[in-house]
Amino acid sequence: MSDLLKDNKYFRKKLLQLREELSVRSKSSDEDTKTVELDQSRMGRLSRMDAIQSQAMAVEFKRRRGIQLQRIEAALKRIEGDSFGLCVNCEDEIDPNRLELDPTTFLCIECAENRG
Ligand SMILES: [Zn+2]
Repeated sequence: MSDLLKDNKYFRKKLLQLREELSVRSKSSDEDTKTVELDQSRMGRLSRMDAIQSQAMAVEFKRRRGIQLQRIEAALKRIEGDSFGLCVNCEDEIDPNRLELDPTTFLCIECAENRG
């Protein structure tokens, strides 16, 4: 067993924490989008534009959060299936430093560069 696989518990914990943070943030920003809709008629033109802008941002955050959540779920599944830390493209081990920065990383540095 490689060191990486022994670290699975550590990364699992990190991923679960990330997921928890996302769900907490998701609740507060759902409230933001609701407030905008309710208050629109009472606002002046400029603040309405601000509200529309911040609502658009909230929608964008929500979209990104959805993607991030999918990545977290996928990483957790890879941990369950013992393939965590392996590149999904070439099955090489992913640099643990990359996983430390972002435990949802699923490509080794070479494949990530080839892709982007
Ligand atoms: Zn690779």
